[in-house]
Amino acid sequence: MAYRRYHGSCHCQAVRYEAEFDMSSGSNRCNCSLCSKARAWFLFVSADKFKLLAGDDVLSSYQWTPPGRNDAFLTYRFCSRCGIRLYATGDHPQFGGRFYALHVPTLNDVDREELVNAPLRFVDNAHDRPDRTPADIRLM
Ligand SMILES: [Zn+2]
Repeated sequence: MAYRRYHGSCHCQAVRYEAEFDMSSGSNRCNCSLCSKARAWFLFVSADKFKLLAGDDVLSSYQWTPPGRNDAFLTYRFCSRCGIRLYATGDHPQFGGRFYALHVPTLNDVDREELVNAPLRFVDNAHDRPDRTPADIRLM
């Protein structure tokens, strides 16, 4: 376990954040309809490990209730100036309460080799099976 502090931003730099996490915990690609559109690539941090440094006034939100669910599970936050999605927030016991799902490409100071060597999971949320790898991950 090697927790480090990292920094991230949107493309226009209006939104900036810092977060502490262990890169060796890995990151995730998801095949749900929304993640597919956004080419989502995310990693989880608990809310106490995240700090928004700038841009609260330009962040926009999006919520989506997946088929078969009663509520939107996540709130997606993106920059209203440059359109880049930075993270999603949620609250679930499985993730230790309130959490952030950071969009990995918005991180600015991650060591490339460290990221390459960290686990990358493919999750089959398109079939409501986050516990398994989709049958076809070629375009994820
Ligand atoms: Zn921006």
